[in-house]
Amino acid sequence: MHEIVVNLHMHTRYSDGTGTHKDIAEAAIKTGLDAVIVTDHNILVQGVEGYYRVGRSRVLLLIGQEVHDQDRDPQKNHLLVFNANRDVSTLADDPQTLINRVAEAGGLSFIAHPRDPEAPAFNEVDISWEAWDVHGYTGIELWNGLSELKTVLHTKLHGAFYAFFPQFIGRSPIFETLQRWDDLLADGQRVVAIGGSDAHALHMHMGPLRRVIFPYDFHFRAVNTHVFVPQPLTGDVPTDKKMIYEALAAGRCFIGYDLPAPTRGFIFKARGLEQSAIMGEEISSRRGVTLQAHLPDPAEIRLLKDGKPIGIWRDSQACAFSVSEPGAYRVEAWKNYLGLKRGWIFSNPIYVR
Ligand SMILES: [Zn+2]
Ligand SMILES: [Zn+2]
Repeated sequence: MHEIVVNLHMHTRYSDGTGTHKDIAEAAIKTGLDAVIVTDHNILVQGVEGYYRVGRSRVLLLIGQEVHDQDRDPQKNHLLVFNANRDVSTLADDPQTLINRVAEAGGLSFIAHPRDPEAPAFNEVDISWEAWDVHGYTGIELWNGLSELKTVLHTKLHGAFYAFFPQFIGRSPIFETLQRWDDLLADGQRVVAIGGSDAHALHMHMGPLRRVIFPYDFHFRAVNTHVFVPQPLTGDVPTDKKMIYEALAAGRCFIGYDLPAPTRGFIFKARGLEQSAIMGEEISSRRGVTLQAHLPDPAEIRLLKDGKPIGIWRDSQACAFSVSEPGAYRVEAWKNYLGLKRGWIFSNPIYVR
C-alpha cells in the first residue's frame, strides 16, 4: 500500500471561493500534495479535472460537489459528493434520496461539517447536519477547518487575530462530531471519517485591514486526508481517480493535521492468525488480533474500542495491543504545539469481527 496526501472540500469562484482551479493546483503543488478534490456548492464543474503541472511536479485535481438545499432556511444538511459523474444538486431537498441516487451512480457521499456552530460576531449561522435519520452514506467529515474556526470567532477581534495567526486555530475535530461518529461505530455501522479544509481563500476587509484569510496553501499544510492506494499514482487520470475513490469508500485513510509535524508515515494495522488488515478493513477475532500503530514522530497515542479508550501511550512512536473482542478499534494521536495539546492523527477504524 502507498500513502498519498489528499486535501478535499474546497471552493472556487464557481461558488463562494475566490480562487480558480489553477490557483488551487499551484498551491497544492507548492505544498507537496498528491491530489485535491474541489467541491463547489451545487455545481459539478466540467472540463477542469486532471493532472496539473509546475516544472516537474504534478498534482491530480478531482471534481466533486457540495450539495445543499438553497431553499431551506437555515441552509443546513451539506453533503459532499464524489464520483457521481453527474450534477445531483437538483435532489438536494431530500437528503435520503440524494444519498441513494449517489450510491446507485457508484458515487461516495460524506456528511459535511456535521456540527457547524453559529458565529454571531460574523453573522454566520449554524449550518450543522440535522437529517440524522439518513442511512447508506459513505461517511462523515470528522474535521472541518472552517467549522472549527467558527468555534473560536467569539468577537471581531478574535477574527482579526486568527486571520493573521491561523496556526493557533486547529485543535481537534469538534467534540460533538467525534461523539456522533463513535456512537455510529458503537452501533455497528461502518462510517468512514475524512478531514476537509473547506478552503475559500476569502478576502477580509476590516477597517484598514485587507487580507486573504486562510489562503489555499495554508489549508493544504493543515488538515489533510492521507489515503492508502495499492500502487503509486500512475499519471493516468481514470486509473488514479478510481484508486483514490475506492480507498476513500473503504476507509483506507486517516486524518492528519500536518501543521504541528508531518503525519506522512503513520500506519495502524492488525495481525491475526491468518490475516492482516489496515484501517478501514475487517479482520476475524478468532484466536486474537494484535493491533499496532507506528507514528512518524513521538506523540500521545490513544486506542479506542467503539469510542471507549482502552489504552494510552505517552510520548511514544509505536504501540501494540492484543484484543479478542469484536468491535471498531481506532487510534488518535495528540501532540503539543503552540502551547496546547492538539489532535494530530485520527485513524479510521479496523473492524474486528
Ligand atoms: Zn458546507
Ligand atoms: Zn464547503
